[in-house]
Amino acid sequence: MYNAKAYSAASATSQLAPTMIPRRDPGEHDIQIEILFCGICHSDLHQVRNEWSVMPTVYPCIPGHEIVGRVTKVGSAVTKFKIGDLAAVGCLVDSDGNCPDCKAGLEQFCPNMTLTYNSPDVHLGGVTYGGYSDSIVVKEHFVLHVPSNLNPAGAAPLLCAGITTYSPMRHWGVTKDKKVGVVGLGGLGHMAVKFAHALGAHVVVFTTSPNKKDDALRLGVDEVVVSHDADQMNKHVGSFDFILDAVSAEHDINAYIQLLRRDGNITVVGAPDNPHAVSAFGLLFKRRSISGSLIGGIAETQEMLDFCGKHNITADVEIIPIQKVNVAYERLLKADVKYRFSIDMTSLKSK
Ligand code: NAP
Ligand code: ZN
Repeated sequence: MYNAKAYSAASATSQLAPTMIPRRDPGEHDIQIEILFCGICHSDLHQVRNEWSVMPTVYPCIPGHEIVGRVTKVGSAVTKFKIGDLAAVGCLVDSDGNCPDCKAGLEQFCPNMTLTYNSPDVHLGGVTYGGYSDSIVVKEHFVLHVPSNLNPAGAAPLLCAGITTYSPMRHWGVTKDKKVGVVGLGGLGHMAVKFAHALGAHVVVFTTSPNKKDDALRLGVDEVVVSHDADQMNKHVGSFDFILDAVSAEHDINAYIQLLRRDGNITVVGAPDNPHAVSAFGLLFKRRSISGSLIGGIAETQEMLDFCGKHNITADVEIIPIQKVNVAYERLLKADVKYRFSIDMTSLKSK
């Protein structure tokens, strides 16, 4: 065991503050990574503030699951990485490897999966600690390769915001000429726009922030709809093949269901705590469906990173030092981020 620098929350109402945490020494299948950048996901904020009744937070909480860094040590059985490689870690650090979900490459649905933070830690006891830290030790299977043409600060958010939007688009067959909606132009939403555009779809973004219009067009959106404008919404009734809902707060999902065409699907990835009230009639007519999606499996995460390498896709990031993390959280709550915060972890050295 060794000590690592980190930022942690002591309670649901505490600010994040500097701390030291234990990390395990790398075992034979493990990789030790010096963290260069870690994205700030809205899930970090939900978890730090204990906003999810289904996943109560254990304190101290060290969030962070959008990790890019350099390999500093490898275990004797590690084959895919060597010291000095650029490496990435997302939301998962372990799973049982034997269940039908793991065998299907869908580790995110394994009943025994371990999340990067706030999951029981089988090695050290307590819970796992995430990427707001100067280093992490992770089993090789859960470590990803970052294409060398991608800048590390912008690549970090691909590990959650990227895969969470890429996976459902692949699952629901987003391709050329499909009409695709993205609800909420935040961290996830702006990645969804980039992927849908790269896959050749006609992309419409629904936003509560009219001032994001120019950015949306620059990111690859074909049409921008301000969601509280009923006239703008009504123009799209019954027309979408697929809509991705990436909103972090309570909102009326029925307004989007009615925009789907026959057999259209809306996939929810945003995770407000309160249940959605879904009208049966919105689904019955036109045989529409609603579904959910959770990050993505390891093989698909590598596929997404390789897709990003090929298409030169990274997140649009505001790079901040860790000392600004609490301010960043307040801005996230106001939908004021362009479009992901990426923490420069070398800033931890100055504290
Ligand atoms: P984010 O960067 O804060 O973006 C959320 C966006 O939602 C905002 O930028 C805003 O977009 C819109 N929004 C915020 N409040 C709203 C309100 N009251 N009504 C309508 N729209 C509102 O968050 P994120 O990191 O992208 O995460 C989004 C959600 O996905 C979070 O709940 C997070 O926990 C969840 N998540 C799920 C998964 C998964 O695997 N399913 C993975 C990661 C994250 P506009 O300004 O354009 O309206
Ligand atoms: Zn996330």
